[in-house]
Parts: sequence; C-alpha cells; structure tokens
Amino acid sequence: MPKILRSDSRSILNGAPMRHVNVPSPVRATRMLRKQIVIVGGGFAGIAAARGLKRVDADVTIIDRRNHHIFQPLLYQVATAVLAPSEIAAPIRQLAREQKNVSVLLADVTGVDLESRTIEAVSPKAGMLKIPFDYLVIATGVQPSYFGHDEFAKYAPSLKTLGDAEDIRAKILGAYELAETTNDEAVRARQMTFVLVGGGPTGVELAASIAQLATTTLRGQYRHIDPADSSIILIESGKRILPTFSDRLAAKAAKRLEKLGVRILTGVRVEIVDATGVVANSNRIPAATVLWTAGVAAPPLLKLLGAESDRAGRVVVDPYLNVKQASGVFVIGDASMTVSDGRPVPGVAQAAIQEGRYVASAIARYMKGRAPKGPFRYADRGSMAVVGKNFAILETRHVRVAGFFTWLVWATVHLMALPQLQNRLRVQRQWLWSYFTGQRSSELIPEQPARSREASATALRAKRSKPQQGRPAETKSPAR
Ligand SMILES: Cc1cc2nc3c(=O)[nH]c(=O)nc-3n(C[C@H](O)[C@H](O)[C@H](O)COP(=O)(O)OP(=O)(O)OC[C@H]3O[C@@H](n4cnc5c(N)ncnc54)[C@H](O)[C@@H]3O)c2cc1C
Repeated sequence: MPKILRSDSRSILNGAPMRHVNVPSPVRATRMLRKQIVIVGGGFAGIAAARGLKRVDADVTIIDRRNHHIFQPLLYQVATAVLAPSEIAAPIRQLAREQKNVSVLLADVTGVDLESRTIEAVSPKAGMLKIPFDYLVIATGVQPSYFGHDEFAKYAPSLKTLGDAEDIRAKILGAYELAETTNDEAVRARQMTFVLVGGGPTGVELAASIAQLATTTLRGQYRHIDPADSSIILIESGKRILPTFSDRLAAKAAKRLEKLGVRILTGVRVEIVDATGVVANSNRIPAATVLWTAGVAAPPLLKLLGAESDRAGRVVVDPYLNVKQASGVFVIGDASMTVSDGRPVPGVAQAAIQEGRYVASAIARYMKGRAPKGPFRYADRGSMAVVGKNFAILETRHVRVAGFFTWLVWATVHLMALPQLQNRLRVQRQWLWSYFTGQRSSELIPEQPARSREASATALRAKRSKPQQGRPAETKSPAR
C-alpha cells in the first residue's frame, strides 16, 4: 500500500497510535511521483468517478467505510422481503477489479486537512491512517435527518443501508408474529399498524410494498390473524405526497396507494415518536412499527471543509463541482449542492453518476494542464416512483405518464442499472417469482444470538414474577 503514509504521532481523534511504515522502496518512490486521486465514498458518484479515471496515469484510491456499493433505489424491496441484501449490493473491490490504477480501502474518513492535502481515516485493521492527495473527490452521500429529533431514531428506523433494510424487515415480520400470539385486540391492532413518516418516493414505495406484503404474500400464513387487516398509514406534513412530482401524477399515485389500502394523512406533522407509536397533530396513533422516510442531512465530515453549505449541510460547489477556494477538491453526488440551467441538481442516482463522470474528465484535463470543457450540466432523464405491482409514475420535462407500461419501463431501467450482471440475473429471477406467485423469497427474521435470547428470557421471567401493572403483556397465548 505505497500511497498510505502512517506516522508515529497520536491521533487527535481517538488517541490511538498511528503505525509507522518503513523507508520507501524504489517502487514506492516511483509510484509516489504519480498523482494521487482519493475518492471518499463508493456510492453512485464515487464509482462513476473512479471508472471515468480508467485511462488516467494516476493512482486512484476509493475509500469507503463499508466494503460494498448499494443500489439504494431497491432498498425498500429488501426491507419488504422481495429481495435479499446481496442481490442489490456489490463488493467495491469486485467493481474495481478490472481497473488496475484503482485500489480500495475499507476505512472511515474522519478528517480532511486542505493545507497539508491529506485525509485522515480509521481502518478496522490498520487503525489511523493519513492519506495524501493531489485531487480529492468527496462523494459521501447524505444521512437520514430527524429534523432535530434524533431521539425518534430509536423507535423509527430510516432506510439507508442494508442493515437498516434488514432491521425494518425483521420489525415488520416480527410485528405479525406478536400479533399472532396475542388475544388482546388493542395489542393486536397496534402490532398490525405501520406508520410511515414522509410522503416522498421512499415512503410511497415502502408503503405500497408493505400493503402488498400484507394483502398477498402473508395471506394464509397465520392462523389467528389476517394480515390483510393491517393498517398502513403514510403521514406527510406537506399538502400532498410526492412533492417533486406534478400534482396530477402525485394524485394518481395517491389514488393507487389508497386502492392498495394505504391511508394517507397530509398536512399532518409528527410531534412524538415513542415505543407505542406516534403523536401526530396532537392525536396518538398506536403503532408497533414506525418508519422514518422524511429527510436527509449531510454527514458531519463535510463541515470540516469549512466551505459554504446549504440548509441540509450539503457543500455548495462552483459550476465545476470544485469546493470554492480549494482547487482540486470536489464534492459530488448527494453531498453537494449545485445548480444546472438555473435549477438545483436533485439528489438522485442519475445526477450522482453524471457528476462522477464529469469530475473524472475534469481531473484528466487538469492533469494535462487544461481546463474542464465547460461547467457541469445535468441531463435530466426524469424521475420515477413505483406504487406496488404494475403501477409506476414517470415525469420528465416533456412526459408525464403513469400505469402498467411505465411500471415496465421502471423495472427495465432498474434492472439494467444494477451494478453487476449477477445482480441483474438474480433480481430478475426474484421479480418473476414474486410477480407470478405473489410470494417473496426473503421472508426471514434473523435469529437472535443465543446470549441475547437468554437475556430476553431472563428479563421476561423477572417481569412475570412482579405483579403486572398497566398494559397487558403482548405475548399471551391465543385462545384456540
Ligand atoms: C431508500 C432510498 C431510495 C432511493 N431511491 C432512488 C430512486 O428510486 N432513484 C434515484 O435516482 N435515486 C434514489 N435514491 C437516491 C440515490 O440513492 C442517491 O441520490 C445516490 O445514492 C447518491 O449517490 P452518492 O454516491 O452521492 O451517495 P451514496 O450512494 O449514498 O454513497 C455514499 C458512499 O459514501 C460512503 N461514506 C459516507 N461517509 C463516509 C466516510 N466518512 N468514510 C468513508 N465512506 C463514507 C458510504 O458508505 C457510501 O458507500 C434513493 C435513496 C434512498 C436512501
């Protein structure tokens, strides 16, 4: 790993000593003469940037805190048991395998020093690392925002990683298990109520998929409940759902959702989220599953750049995606805020990919002493959202369509955009299976490790030995 410099100094971040790497070898010296391009983040933007640098005579390092790239548009299908996590993810090393000038580093980037042009990262194996760069591309994406109510996160998970999707799947399926084992009506109703906070595309897609899980997939699998009796509530604080789509398409999507059994509450603000449900516009809605699909904010790392940012903390970059007053440092994808043709570039995968490609070509030109061909221009190919089986909406500047054929387009576009051929084949197989049988292959609740199973049993025994107060236990045996 010739590009990684380690010193004996102690990290200011966690006090851990940084290990020293011995005298540079001749190979190392030659390689250090090559320009060092560091890309933070192996998401859509980072991978597109790395691929665009294929022919550049430089060492490219992709640093990511996880070893895989996630196809986020299909995360909701992992959360609702349609797909397995590995079907929508690909190891970043596999994606970079063919590109000899790229190396991959599994580490969490924790610091950026623009003066010494180094970044600081924590690697699970190697500890603290200092990595020099000539060009830095920051493509960290965004993280969920609870709008100042981080305490909600404990009860209302958001959907951003494979882990989140698996937790949500376990929460949904676990709620039905508890509903099956109680004969208390109120408890059962609470277990079978699913509240989604945020009526953007993720909230809509997730709500529709839970509705179909309840009415089709899970039907006939339980003996004491009918999952079709579930209550699925989508709460949006704005006047309507899908605010980035036209009124007409949003109305069509809303109608479709209602047909699937989803209740939509608009103009309603969630004030409290706790272990028993939510309070929205002063009304309590008991719900065992609350999912947060509302907002995003930039990760704290971006603040270290000391650059101008927007309300969500995204870095405001110049028309060449360069951080103002920091030449050779770019922020792309969801983490950046830029304008194209007078309009803000949206935080979508297509924009992240185009920005990644643009930055790669800009760096290649800078390295030859040339300026980029022109400022970044976003080619908007439109936005899509899927509302259950057979129905999607598509909006471009000139086209607004909805229905079955749009859904076919949605399916084809998403299939082709998956990172690897094996993902495409596996997802296609699962979709065909689900389409024709109504069944979902990943209907799994991960088993608890033995130690935590034991701890839960002990806690339950202790609780039972005390006199019961208030609410009835949720695990009573059903009357048979
Ligand atoms: C549930 C969901 C559904 C979506 N659906 C759609 C859709 O249908 N269509 C669409 O166009 N867009 C959709 N999006 C948005 C789209 O996924 C994003 O616009 C896109 O992923 C942005 O790409 P990015 O490369 O900027 O960030 P990301 O893809 O988020 O990648 C960021 C990467 O940076 C890494 N990282 C972050 N911080 C650090 C750090 N400090 N150190 C090391 N690594 C770090 C992360 O691990 C991650 O791999 C969806 C997003 C979500 C969450």
